Amino acid sequence: MQAIEQISINGEWVTPQGTERFDLFNPATGDVIGQVRLASEADALNAIAAAKAAFPGWSQTSRDERIAALIRMRDALEACQPALLQAIVEEYGAPASRANWMARYPVSVIEEAINALKAFEFESVVGQARVVMTPLGVAGLITPWNSDAGFICGKLAAALAAGCTAVVKPSEMSALQTHIVTQALHEAQLPPGVFNIVTGRGDVVGEVLSRHPDVAKISFTGSTATGKAILRNAAETFKRVTLELGGKSPTLILEDADLADAVPLAIQAGFMNSGQACIAGTRILVPASRKTECEAALAQAVAAVKSGDPRDPATEVGPMVSEKQWQRVQSYIRLGQQEGARLLAGGEGRAAGCERGWSVRPTLFSEVKNTMRIAREEIFGPVLSVIAYRDEAEAIAIANDTDYGLSALVLGGDPERARRVAGQITAGRVLVNTLAHEASAPFGGFKHSGIGREMGRWGLAAFMEPKSIVM
Ligand code: NAD
Repeated sequence: MQAIEQISINGEWVTPQGTERFDLFNPATGDVIGQVRLASEADALNAIAAAKAAFPGWSQTSRDERIAALIRMRDALEACQPALLQAIVEEYGAPASRANWMARYPVSVIEEAINALKAFEFESVVGQARVVMTPLGVAGLITPWNSDAGFICGKLAAALAAGCTAVVKPSEMSALQTHIVTQALHEAQLPPGVFNIVTGRGDVVGEVLSRHPDVAKISFTGSTATGKAILRNAAETFKRVTLELGGKSPTLILEDADLADAVPLAIQAGFMNSGQACIAGTRILVPASRKTECEAALAQAVAAVKSGDPRDPATEVGPMVSEKQWQRVQSYIRLGQQEGARLLAGGEGRAAGCERGWSVRPTLFSEVKNTMRIAREEIFGPVLSVIAYRDEAEAIAIANDTDYGLSALVLGGDPERARRVAGQITAGRVLVNTLAHEASAPFGGFKHSGIGREMGRWGLAAFMEPKSIVM
């Protein structure tokens, strides 16, 4: 049992004034493996005050000073990778291949921020004006449980690169991973107050951050419902807001696709991060003319996906992060059947060989109408829907008939045709015949998938406002 008893304010470990303890679980067994002491409103206020006091100094640092600080941060995150990997498997249940990537990802997002900072144009001349990109002030960074270290480091590195100081409110469910990241940030010897880590409840610490007049910016990744609450709270003080929210992303298998290539990509896109990914391609659109063939190939591929113990190297889909998430996935599998969809693979219950914990059966539905709730709502688990379309125009219409607009995957034999289809999809990122991650391109969503973009120069600019000096 690990007990996380401290948070980080003003460069120091401090015991929170909050006294509530929150249980931490191993999703593979359902056992309690630790407890975290949660920060209170008073702790959040102290963290905001520390970030506010550090802002005048940090905002005046040179590009080189910020690059040096980010390099120290990167090195510290590199050194803690083995510990982080262990925590990701134990506390989150990510299978080995995904967990390895997740443990390395903080280093690569910090490197991306360094690259963006090196190239960033802080000043430009427009007519008679000198336009200076100016850091906003204190940034509140609120992150979810599905990639704790990656989101903390990505948002923090961009905020610091821009000259902002930060208060981070990580998910209370990822406290072991957050603790390792916080230790690394201390190792990096960043100036006191430029980062503060306050693990607490969303409706306590998160609310303080999104309402407080001394917080100029909120960068949030999480559910669409919470994003809406943050936007409302932030309106009162005109905070700048970046929201990275949910998705119900389409995978379009075009008529000329080679299924031997397309099906593995469609399955990987759908089951990414055990289905607990905002960008997961959960609606698979297949041509009606090839429906039987597509269904057979997809069903065979889903049935072959190994779900279960994350420590088994053969496992591709790990357990759901919590019992609540497990129940949610089960309820959608039941709902799909009640709505009239046909189960092609998987179903309710735990994965074969798992008697404990929150493993699920990778599930594939066919005969899904895009109006059904399983096709419209984010399930956040390995549950995929096959939807048939008549022609290309209908495929595009179905792909866009969603409240979300985060990501899409287009799979086809003719790259030109696939690119033309991609151009008509309303989504922040459209992948064509690849699952490659381009870390320097902007990331974010249309419609209910969010507001604004992270990564690259777009991510840095999101922590600044232009100021025109005219002489
Ligand atoms: P969540 O919205 O429940 O929680 C996210 C964070 O917000 C947590 O730290 C939580 O404590 C905090 N929070 C909760 N209520 C709050 C409030 N009233 N004010 C301020 N903060 C509050 O989401 P989750 O369950 O942790 O994560 C899953 C969701 O995140 C999914 O919907 C998924 O699609 C989304 N997500 C989006 C992206 C993206 O980049 N678009 C990436 C990963 C996850």
